[in-house]
Amino acid sequence: MSVPEVLAHLRALETETGRPSGSVRLVAVTKGQPIEAIRERVLAYGEHALGEGRAQELRDKAALMTDADIEWHSIGTLQRNKIKYLKPVTLVHGIEEVWQAEAIAQAAEGWGRAPDLLLQLHNGEEQKHGVRPEQLSAVYHQVMQTGLKVRGLMVMAPDDADEEATLRLFEDTARRAHDLGLPELSMGMSDDYPLAVRAGATLVRVGRRLFL
Ligand SMILES: *Cc1c(COP(=O)(O)O)cnc(C)c1O
Repeated sequence: MSVPEVLAHLRALETETGRPSGSVRLVAVTKGQPIEAIRERVLAYGEHALGEGRAQELRDKAALMTDADIEWHSIGTLQRNKIKYLKPVTLVHGIEEVWQAEAIAQAAEGWGRAPDLLLQLHNGEEQKHGVRPEQLSAVYHQVMQTGLKVRGLMVMAPDDADEEATLRLFEDTARRAHDLGLPELSMGMSDDYPLAVRAGATLVRVGRRLFL
């Protein structure tokens, strides 16, 4: 599917689920994609929100694409020694531990700008990333102490989850964000973004589908 097709699909899903038009934003996941393909398949259609998983790749691409007005999203796991590469980023989707937010806040003093944050919720799978639901409120309050802005929650469905389990996870995540008074919900990828829109996603992270 092309970017215009995915955007049209998002608008149709919004209508179908009774949500205002434009309430779901596309983050085009461009990890592993060459710059030429990103320009042709995403930027050419006026889409500017790009998601990268690896901090170094994000830094390198941002340096080569300064001519374009890009909103960079970090969607990967954050390692301490890579946080310095996140200067171009507007929104960090995957905060799992308080130290990550503290390190970003410290680095941001030197950047002269600071990204907003989303807390990644654990999805119930063994050995997977994210804040455990029972720790969410405490982590949220500690992350707020850094002075950075927490805008919402992010979640990924387990690889083996069926539609019903995925929808339940997304709805549960939406409820937790609502309870914390957080407006943004980053959930849904190439295979499950329709379910995410149904559950209230405000940001869908779609990669493979845009580059087939
Ligand atoms: C790769 C990735 C995506 C995009 O996945 P696709 O299946 O390519 O759409 C979304 N979110 C995260 C966190 C990712 O790592």
